[in-house]
Amino acid sequence: MPNDSAQVSGEVILDRIVEPQEYLACEVRRGEVVRIVDLEGQQVVGLTCFNLDRLDEKLSSPNTLGLNRQIYPGLGYKLYSDEAGLMMTMTADTCGTHSMIAGACSSFTNELRYGEKHTRNCRDNFASAVKAWGLGWKDVAYPINIFMNLPVAADGRYEIDLPTSKAGDFVDFTAEMNLLVAISNCPQDKNKVNAFKLKAVRVVHHKPAPL
Ligand SMILES: [Zn+2]
Repeated sequence: MPNDSAQVSGEVILDRIVEPQEYLACEVRRGEVVRIVDLEGQQVVGLTCFNLDRLDEKLSSPNTLGLNRQIYPGLGYKLYSDEAGLMMTMTADTCGTHSMIAGACSSFTNELRYGEKHTRNCRDNFASAVKAWGLGWKDVAYPINIFMNLPVAADGRYEIDLPTSKAGDFVDFTAEMNLLVAISNCPQDKNKVNAFKLKAVRVVHHKPAPL
């Protein structure tokens, strides 16, 4: 397994293994970077964020899609809020396959699709992650899904496919405002999204050295 993907320049603020099905939240100041490393490959990570200085401003998938005019996130992709505020920019990407249209797995959709109640899921993970900041389940915006492979056909149909990410692949998101960032290590094991095996990922929050 490559072990150099977590090497960053500057001050490391948080370096955490997020075990399968787990989550975290962290306060990220403007200019700081959140790196997400797919340690084994083929593990999807959801990321959502809030304006730390005013938590009712949050990530918006429609604004992000519309302002990038691009459904596939990649290097340079920008995350926008529900007020069209610039929240984060993807400043590194060794994988190239991510999704902005997938939403998040939930107990509701798992029950509807798979007939199973009370499953671990990204929506509940996000809610647990941000609870300490006084936010509730309904406050959590749908995320960007890092390493998720959701190709859209010419006729608009789409199906979840196996991730293309390899061990050690990573993305960096640079904060463009002060943020509360929440991350869910996607617990979905009932479809191809995580290749039917849940793996740990690594999150490295750091402050880059000045250029
Ligand atoms: Zn999920």
